[in-house]
Amino acid sequence: MENLKTLLYSHGINLKKAYGQNFLTDQTLLEDIVNQSGIDKDTTVLEIGPGAGALTGELCKKAKKVIAYEIDQRLKPLLAQTVGGYSNLEIVFKDVMKEKLNVLEQKLGDNYLLVANLPYYITTPIVMNFLENSKKLNSLVIMVQKEVAQRFCAPPKTTDYGAITVAINLRGKAKIIKQVPREMFTPPPNVDSAVVKIDIDRKKLESVDLDKVREVVKIAFSSRRKMLVNNLMNAYKLARTDAETLLINSNVSLTARAEELTSEQYITLSENLKK
Ligand code: SAM
Repeated sequence: MENLKTLLYSHGINLKKAYGQNFLTDQTLLEDIVNQSGIDKDTTVLEIGPGAGALTGELCKKAKKVIAYEIDQRLKPLLAQTVGGYSNLEIVFKDVMKEKLNVLEQKLGDNYLLVANLPYYITTPIVMNFLENSKKLNSLVIMVQKEVAQRFCAPPKTTDYGAITVAINLRGKAKIIKQVPREMFTPPPNVDSAVVKIDIDRKKLESVDLDKVREVVKIAFSSRRKMLVNNLMNAYKLARTDAETLLINSNVSLTARAEELTSEQYITLSENLKK
């Protein structure tokens, strides 16, 4: 791609902070992200926010098909110039948050991959929407703020481990595949970033009452410094002995706090609560 600043200037585009427009240009980094995504010629990719098309072009070289959603209509002529030549690319100029998942997935087939250098203001809603509602997504490969990446991948019994970590672990496994310092973006944001890969295991949740697990996780982390037994007593109006029996039957320590339970323990606890 020709120099990004020249390209933006020639199309009269000033980048918008409100859309999280911090673009990547480093070819080695872009190739590395695509290589580590596990894309091959049979893969369909959903890209959110192609921007100037740097990552999009690399995705098109490797994937069977790329469908990209871009909110900023001003980028239309620029993207036509940078990636318009790829016959396996379709760009939809629309806010991805306003597209219904079933409409979006009609075009994506049964086993697709989501790749995005995400605008940070939509990271959590995007990740949660796809994790909780998609039955077709295989993996997400997303650039997020470094601290968010650490929360996604945190082991239990650490301060980074939270409700979102449990939500991810319920459906799959997250790992950081690349640290990306802020200087690699144009313009540089105020934070460092990391690329996270979340592989989804759809079988994991087949027989689980997800609403109930979600409810218990929310209650547990609502006062994460308090012992879980107290949070359960308050939320479900339980006597202490009943709450303690529940924990014992779920193989959870009586003094445990929210951050000590694995996602499997949250499932067992929610099942025992229903009994
Ligand atoms: N992929 C490009 C890259 O890596 O250089 C650009 C990434 S930039 C961090 C985020 C992109 O997402 C911008 O192009 C922005 O306009 C777009 N975007 C922001 N909000 C969006 C939304 N709700 N739906 C679709 N695209 C969005």
